[in-house]
Amino acid sequence: MSNGILIIAESHEGALRPASLELVTAGLAAKAAVGGSLTALLPGSNVAGPATELAGLGVDTVKVAEDPKLSAFTTDAWAAAVEAAVKALDPRVVIFAGTTSGRDLAPRLAARFGAPSAANVIAIGGSSDTIVATRPVLGGRVQTDVSLGGSLAFLSAGPGAFEKAVSTGVTAPVEALAVDLSGVSERVRVTGLAAADSGGSSSLASAEVVVAGGRGLKEPANFALVEELAGKLGGAVAASRAVVDAGWRSHHEQIGQTGKTVSPKLYIAVGISGAVQHNVGMQGSEAIVAINRDPDAPIFKIASFGIVGDLFEIVPELNRQLS
Ligand SMILES: Cc1cc2nc3c(=O)[nH]c(=O)nc-3n(C[C@H](O)[C@H](O)[C@H](O)COP(=O)(O)OP(=O)(O)OC[C@H]3O[C@@H](n4cnc5c(N)ncnc54)[C@H](O)[C@@H]3O)c2cc1C
Repeated sequence: MSNGILIIAESHEGALRPASLELVTAGLAAKAAVGGSLTALLPGSNVAGPATELAGLGVDTVKVAEDPKLSAFTTDAWAAAVEAAVKALDPRVVIFAGTTSGRDLAPRLAARFGAPSAANVIAIGGSSDTIVATRPVLGGRVQTDVSLGGSLAFLSAGPGAFEKAVSTGVTAPVEALAVDLSGVSERVRVTGLAAADSGGSSSLASAEVVVAGGRGLKEPANFALVEELAGKLGGAVAASRAVVDAGWRSHHEQIGQTGKTVSPKLYIAVGISGAVQHNVGMQGSEAIVAINRDPDAPIFKIASFGIVGDLFEIVPELNRQLS
């Protein structure tokens, strides 16, 4: 008998994190396979707004664990809150978002409960007896199916692997879940948050349009073409590792295996060859437009639309047309 699915949502500054919208879709996929109800836990402090948003996304119940110690993420406090929720709700599977905190908590909680876990999951199937989690390995070149038996399992969703859930028009009940964190020592305390130097693309993770530049741009100054195109489309600027390693752009803009994973509606790759380590970070995009002068560039294998030609002619023309 399945006790359903528990997802661990996250909010920031009064709104759900975009990864939590993807997490709801992962939870619905798990519910379809495993059965039972879908409960979303929202730890935090003063999270009534995001809890209401979460309640409208198709979950069956929202449980809010409120405590000042949960206002900023710390491993000790959040792990204690999730542990209490798991003991109270006895779910068959617990799913975390594809965030730094989610990837921190999933294996930690699995170890605490002596349960199996799988990270960076891109699809969930199976049954309540055996959950089957699909995850990419070898830099995304191969996908493996991992079977998780037993009565409890922990998963973390792959960033960008699931669609963002949208409002269903139905509002699930929002209930308080009492968690006693008095015994949690504050070994780590978050004393402040400072925005990183964003270079104008702080919204990369949630941008609907991403324009990425690669070594084909020849020199850092030519990134102005990419910045102009991104600006005209209301998008964010990104980069391949080759140009980050060369010091043209900062690492927070890097897409790929050792950078960020994005899944915008539109990803424009300018002068990027399409190495597997790059593609793994953007192949979940809804539409990929590749601009490359080499017709055999691997990027064209995953592009929805390919433009074979010199970027120094094509991008200025695009910018002119969009003026
Ligand atoms: C362990 C590991 C992890 C890695 N992680 C990442 C990662 O996270 N992200 C990442 O991006 N890479 C990563 N890489 C590096 C990756 O393998 C590639 O080397 C890198 O993505 C190449 O970047 P690029 O496409 O910008 O450059 P190149 O491969 O040099 O491609 C440049 C492209 O520009 C085209 N071009 C040149 N001039 C023009 C022009 N005038 N007009 C149009 N097109 C032109 C060329 O035809 C070429 O296809 C990783 C590698 C390893 C080994």
